[in-house]
Amino acid sequence: MAGLMEGRRGLIMGLANDKSIAWGIARALAEQGAELAFSYQGEALKKRVDPLAQQLGSDIVLPCDVSDMDSVDALFSDLKDRWGSLDFIVHAIGFSDKNELRGRYVDTSRQNFLTSMDISVYSFTAVVQRASAMMAEGGSCLTLTYYGAERVMPHYNVMGVAKAALEASVRYMAEDLGKDGIRVNAISAGPIKTLAASGIGDFRYILKWNELNSPLRRNVTIEDVGKSAVYLLSDLGTGTTGEVLHVDAGYHVVGMKAVDAPDI
Ligand code: NAD
Repeated sequence: MAGLMEGRRGLIMGLANDKSIAWGIARALAEQGAELAFSYQGEALKKRVDPLAQQLGSDIVLPCDVSDMDSVDALFSDLKDRWGSLDFIVHAIGFSDKNELRGRYVDTSRQNFLTSMDISVYSFTAVVQRASAMMAEGGSCLTLTYYGAERVMPHYNVMGVAKAALEASVRYMAEDLGKDGIRVNAISAGPIKTLAASGIGDFRYILKWNELNSPLRRNVTIEDVGKSAVYLLSDLGTGTTGEVLHVDAGYHVVGMKAVDAPDI
C-alpha cells in the first residue's frame, strides 16, 4: 500500500540519530507521503537531526526541551505560524538518570522520580494539549512505551513506573479528545539498541533474552515499529484509540516458553 499519509502533516519529537525509534517511524511515514517537521533537544543534536530531516525532504527542524514549557510553547507557536494545522504527532521521548536504571527500584531518589515522570510522562500530555488545539479536522497522537510498565523488568525501575503512568495518560487523553476526532495511542516496543536503551543495565542480556523467548524468536527493529506507527497514524487505524499496541515479536504473551522438558 502506498500514499497512506499523502496530504498529512506531522511533528516527530525524539529523533537523536539513525538508530532512534523516531527515525524508523519518520522514514515509514515519509515513504507513505507524510510531510514532516522535527524537534530536537539541545544544539548538540541539531547537527545530527538536520541531515536526517533533509533526507526525508523536511527543512522544519526546531528546538524543544520538553522539561521547559516555554520551549514547548515556542515549538507549537512556530509550527502554527508555518503550517496552521497539524494531522499527527509522534512523541518518542523518555529520560531517567542512568545511575538509577540499575540496582533496585526501591532506591529511587525523589528528584529522579520527578524528573523521569516530568520528561517521560507529563511531556506527552503537554504536547498533546498544544497539538490537539491545531487538529480542528481531527488527528492522531502516538507515544512509545515498554513492557516494563506491565511487568517487572530488570533495571527498568522508575522508567517502568513512568511508562505505566504514560499508558494511563494515553487512555485518559483518548477519552478527553475522542469526541474531537483525535486519537491517542502508544506502541509498546520490544527492546531495541538505541542511545536511550544503552543507559539500561545489562541491556545486551535483555536483548538476547527477548530474542530467545519471543514467539517470533527475534528482536524487533525500528522498521517494525515504523510500520505499526503508520497503521496508528493513518486512516488504517481510524477505529483505534486509547490502545497500547505491542510491537515486541509477541514477547508479552509468553508465560513460559515450551522446552523438551525431561521427565520429572
Ligand atoms: P533515543 O535515545 O534515540 O531517543 C530518546 C529521545 O528522547 C532523544 O532524542 C532525546 O533527545 C529525547 N529526550 C530526552 N530528554 C528530552 C527532553 N528533556 N526534551 C526533549 N527531548 C528529550 O532512544 P529510543 O529508544 O528511540 O527512545 C524513544 C522512545 O522509545 C522513548 O520513550 C523510550 O522509552 C521508548 N522505548 C524504547 C525502547 C528501546 O528498547 N529502545 C523500547 C520501548 C520503548
